Amino acid sequence: MSNDPFTNAGQQLAQVGEILKLDAKILARLAKPDAVHETELEIKMDDGQNKKFKAYRSQHNMAKGPYKGGIRFHPNVSLSEVKALSMWMTWKCAVAGLPYGGGKGGIVVDPKSLSQAELERLSRAYGEWLAEFVGPWLDVPAPDVNTNGEIMAYMLDALIKTKSLKERMSVAWQATFTGKPIALGGSLGREEATGMGGFYTLENLVASRGWKKSEVSVAVQGMGNVGYWFAKLASEAGYKVVAISDSSGGVYEANGLPIDEVVAYKKATGSLSGYKNAKSLTNAKLLELPVSVLVPAALENVIGGENASKIQAKAIIEMANGPVTPEADLILADRQIFSVPDVLANAGGVTVSYFEWVQNLSGYYWEKEEVFSKLKIIMDRAYLEMSTMWEERIKDLPIEKRSLRMAVYATAVERVVAAMV
Ligand code: NAD
Repeated sequence: MSNDPFTNAGQQLAQVGEILKLDAKILARLAKPDAVHETELEIKMDDGQNKKFKAYRSQHNMAKGPYKGGIRFHPNVSLSEVKALSMWMTWKCAVAGLPYGGGKGGIVVDPKSLSQAELERLSRAYGEWLAEFVGPWLDVPAPDVNTNGEIMAYMLDALIKTKSLKERMSVAWQATFTGKPIALGGSLGREEATGMGGFYTLENLVASRGWKKSEVSVAVQGMGNVGYWFAKLASEAGYKVVAISDSSGGVYEANGLPIDEVVAYKKATGSLSGYKNAKSLTNAKLLELPVSVLVPAALENVIGGENASKIQAKAIIEMANGPVTPEADLILADRQIFSVPDVLANAGGVTVSYFEWVQNLSGYYWEKEEVFSKLKIIMDRAYLEMSTMWEERIKDLPIEKRSLRMAVYATAVERVVAAMV
């Protein structure tokens, strides 16, 4: 595998093509996005100078419905990255059974270098540019790295301003963006959604292994939105969350940590380390703990060629995007450590985004309980379908194709191809 995300995504697709014996024409069509839009957005900076920012939107495949995927603001955004991420979104939506294809967008910018007013102007410029090729039935963006509900609100407002009065009144434009603030049609439960989806995945994994909940130990890397909700829900359900961490390191307690109490301690002192009698540990050591389930929920590429042979967990649930490198995949497969792939494990976020879109289009808003019970149905079904694919078509393949990741991709690609055909 190379360091180029789109080359890697293409190689994974080629492997799935071999497993499913796909027609070459279909494979060629799936190997590149339907459309890639790029531009340079020019905005006025606070010092009166104009500045240009490179911006992209990649639309991979719409056989199953409108393109769906986030918008990231980051200096490392590139054409290759948005193309790869849009392809992975096609698979993620298909795995969850959502009526969407994949999209992804981004701006090459370090948002920390912008003032609030500059961030708003840049977001509005992007929203205005998007107006030509997004919409509730065409392409539905959402927040991603360094973007949030407020930024979606700026983009939505800029997009609506490009429409005539008649157009404004005839389309539920707010359904163009998800992850919006509640006041603008956001869904209840979106904040917890990704961690909650991961928690349902943990329950499915534990049930499929026949493990006893009270004997299952869990280590979670990252205490942001995803890691916090995952750890809190798991601990409240009776799992032993023995280790958690943030960017400056973590804490370990063999009997399990009370998550809210530890997080409150961090808020008060600025650090997890020092909490009661819990032992401090580095992020590298957290990954190597002999736990039942390891949950990377922070960064990409944290389990790679150099540390995959030191992982002692029985299973991994990939809550971050891309935490396990292709090289590590092979080592873990050889050691029979199964990693539930990100496209399934963290699909709770996009699933509740889908619920938000449904609520916007129908004008009928759900209670949180309804959101979570519908999310559970989708996560449980996706897990079962992955397990079936694994048992029937993946588990006896050569090692480079023998992973839950391949089981998930094969399920997804087969679905997209059925829609295309
Ligand atoms: P976040 O910014 O809320 O939290 C990130 C966490 O990672 C923080 O606790 C931070 O301290 C920690 N962290 C940063 N550097 C670290 C390091 N070197 N070692 C250990 N921890 C470190 O982000 P998030 O929304 O929780 O997203 C986490 C991951 O989940 C990302 O990969 C993201 O792409 C993925 N994801 C998020 C969502 C979502 O709905 N938020 C959905 C799907 C996937």
